[in-house]
Amino acid sequence: SKELLKIKDLSIEYRTDEGVIKAVDKMSLEVGVGETLGIVGETGAGKTTTALGIMRLVPNPPGKIAQGEVIFRGENLLEKTEEDMRKIRGNKISMIFQDPMTSLNPVMTTEEQIAEVIILHQNVGKQEAVEKAKEMLNTVGIPVERGKDYPHQFSGGMRQRIVIAIALACNPELLIADEPTTALDVTIQAQVLKLMKNLKEEFETSMIMITHDLGIVANICDKVAIIYTGYAVEYASKEELYNNPLHPYTQGLFGSIPSIDEDEDRLKPIKGLMPEPTEIPDGCPFNPRCPKVMPICLKKLPTRTEVKTGHFVNCHLYNGNDDKVGGA
Ligand code: SF4
Repeated sequence: SKELLKIKDLSIEYRTDEGVIKAVDKMSLEVGVGETLGIVGETGAGKTTTALGIMRLVPNPPGKIAQGEVIFRGENLLEKTEEDMRKIRGNKISMIFQDPMTSLNPVMTTEEQIAEVIILHQNVGKQEAVEKAKEMLNTVGIPVERGKDYPHQFSGGMRQRIVIAIALACNPELLIADEPTTALDVTIQAQVLKLMKNLKEEFETSMIMITHDLGIVANICDKVAIIYTGYAVEYASKEELYNNPLHPYTQGLFGSIPSIDEDEDRLKPIKGLMPEPTEIPDGCPFNPRCPKVMPICLKKLPTRTEVKTGHFVNCHLYNGNDDKVGGA
């Protein structure tokens, strides 16, 4: 499909007391028109930072986009002025966060909040914006008369619906959803996800779904990027990734490698923990946990290899024979 967003070699750094850490390292991903890309990984892997990078919302200081390109509809967002970005955010690209309260104003009614975004980005008067806001409430399944209520008068699931209404009010081309259902209980999660899936199709919005939940990926995504310590270690279509996971980390996440101590550790399919950003080992960052680790993995960072069309892996097992015998 036609390309909407192309992230190329994006690196994002944070200055900490222990020195500069790379939260995102040479990330390259694409989202086609109408497509949903899943970004999957553990907490701290760099998923949210990637999203903030796309939106140019990395807090600076201490954060900084160190290199790369974020090409949206053919233009590099990293070269835009802050004023241009304000016109793009909430209008062409919207973001939904895990906790709906972070994006809602506690002292404004819901219809005012939705109308505010419409007034900001579209050339319409208050009356028309409020009408549109009511329409959006209806679209996300909230009774129109509740538009006069304030955020605290709603349940968590309803609040996330309001956030979705705000995010879609200007019919954005790209919606970035950062764990949008994690804070909700399970039945509500399913309803909100279903709503997002339906609206994505109705509004023909492309989407980036950030999640650690493989059920959500299976349900909603077309392509998937598996993220580990700031790297996209594997990236492919959903079908390809589920049928043919190649990176040992992906295989671990999918439970296709029998766990060594299965009885003790059912919930953690992969032995060990992801290292802290300041403690990433030399060579492949996954080497302390990898059941297939080789000598070269301790010394050399694997590069991105296209194993077959559209299926990318960062692992020495697929980097070609030079790597394995070289031991460089
Ligand atoms: Fe495992 Fe080596 Fe591949 Fe890293 S590069 S995932 S350590 S086999």
